[in-house]
Amino acid sequence: MKTDIEIAQESTMLPITEIAAKLGIGENALEPYGRTKAKLDIGALRDLPRKGKLILVTAINPTPAGEGKTTTSVGLSDALNLLGKKVVLALREPSLGPVFGVKGGAAGGGYAQVVPMEDINLHFTGDFHAIGAANNLLSAMLDNHIQQGNALDIDVRKITWKRCLDMNDRQLRSIVCGLGGKVNGVPREDGFDITVASEIMAVLCLSSGLMDLKERLGRMVVAYTRSDKPVTARDLKADGAMTALLKDAIKPNLVQTLEHTPALIHGGPFANIAHGCNSISATDTALKLGDYVVTEAGFGADLGAEKFLDIKCRYGGLVPSAVVVVATVRALKHHGGVAKADLNSENLEALEKGLPNLLQHVGNIREVYGLPCVVAINAFPTDTAAELKLVEDKCRELGVNVALSEVWAKGGAGGRALAEEVLRLCETPSEFRFSYDAADSIENKLNAIAAKIYHADGVDLTPNAKKQLKQLEELGYGGLPICMAKTQYSFSDDAALLGAPKGFRITVRNLKVSAGAGFVVALTGDIMTMPGLPKVPAAEKIDVDENGVISGLF
Ligand code: ADP
Ligand code: MG
Repeated sequence: MKTDIEIAQESTMLPITEIAAKLGIGENALEPYGRTKAKLDIGALRDLPRKGKLILVTAINPTPAGEGKTTTSVGLSDALNLLGKKVVLALREPSLGPVFGVKGGAAGGGYAQVVPMEDINLHFTGDFHAIGAANNLLSAMLDNHIQQGNALDIDVRKITWKRCLDMNDRQLRSIVCGLGGKVNGVPREDGFDITVASEIMAVLCLSSGLMDLKERLGRMVVAYTRSDKPVTARDLKADGAMTALLKDAIKPNLVQTLEHTPALIHGGPFANIAHGCNSISATDTALKLGDYVVTEAGFGADLGAEKFLDIKCRYGGLVPSAVVVVATVRALKHHGGVAKADLNSENLEALEKGLPNLLQHVGNIREVYGLPCVVAINAFPTDTAAELKLVEDKCRELGVNVALSEVWAKGGAGGRALAEEVLRLCETPSEFRFSYDAADSIENKLNAIAAKIYHADGVDLTPNAKKQLKQLEELGYGGLPICMAKTQYSFSDDAALLGAPKGFRITVRNLKVSAGAGFVVALTGDIMTMPGLPKVPAAEKIDVDENGVISGLF
């Protein structure tokens, strides 16, 4: 079996100008970055109306390996392309942390990939570095403000802004800086987040254009004064220079799939402390250029789709036409109680026992959000025919739309059944609604998500979270949407509660405003915002030869 990178390197890419021409993008809007990548000038495309239908790809609660949302998104768009549809794919940009860590890249897999996969996975067009630079400019200006007399009366113990780096580097999680005497800064505790966890990433992805970006950057809260007043990036006069650093990063990147379907890959916010999907500017641009737009939301549907629908769609004025819920036999068996080592052997009983997890996600999409939905069974080489048949039969029995997807093995040709079902769903009437009203109180919004999406009995706030809630409402942040930070492995806040658990409560331990992004983050446990590398990092196997050909990426 060929590796992802071997398949990618055997493919022949079309010049990016040809991909752009297919979409009718004029020379005035295309900014090539070499031969196979380009940025699109959203200003030049501003006046085009949105015409495409939006298709969201989400998933059941995954195993740590990932269940193939990106792979399915790529394959589905290739399948729609094969059916003669004008389709544009919109995905997140991979972060270097997972590329060098455990998970590897995020450009799809098998015969459903976006290319050039090496470039896409390895800092691409530099957007994340620009975000890092803007983030760290703000840090530098903040510390300099304190050094130069601290006119804003910033309490150094209440600085919420951290430095960032696009790397898994646990050594920098918590640091003491400003050491070395009077001229070398004011000593204080600080820390680094991975760049995708920077609020600037979320801001970039939710901005409608450069001026909205500047406005949102200015609103970001970086610290509190000694009398507990928020200090913003605008108070530090950093918003203009930060926006200047991001003037190209805000432009979506155009590449192609192995089958030459146009793909916009842009932005990549964390799916826990942020909302976990590609930029609004990329989705908006895709809807202007294509008749169908396939996009992905991170993690399982309880987190990723919820935030896509309740945050991104709300801010972007987006209305999906259909939702694809990716399921795998291995994840269903995992929810049915099978241990990791045994996931590759047939087990029909456990498979059936795991189905409620899938069915609850489907029910949420249909009943809470009012959207048509199809299950895509992402076929793995280890699945048996009996297992695949069981999932399909059970779904049909329960009136759930289902299609087998073999895009990993066969590319677009393996996604025909799924694409046909998606096209049919796009023509069915739907009535999209959010799961809560943003104007409601923070507590009611939390309860709505917990009850409707997680099927929990309720939400408990720790005394600390209650205090923060009161403060956030007093400061006027109560009307923002909620960004849930919760384990991706369970509907509950306990990663070990698999399937469709009942009789549990959600504990919110921390509430924090991301005033620029425009949401209140509710943390249900410790969320790692600077991952570490594993014992054997993927980086150990990555190499490059004298011709610049990269190997070992996956
Ligand atoms: P997600 O987007 O849900 O995290 P990905 O699409 O990135 O998942 O897939 C995760 C990993 O699983 C990738 O390495 C991919 O190559 C692999 N994978 C996905 N689908 C299949 C499949 N049908 N068969 C074998 N491997 C697959
Ligand atoms: Mg993915």
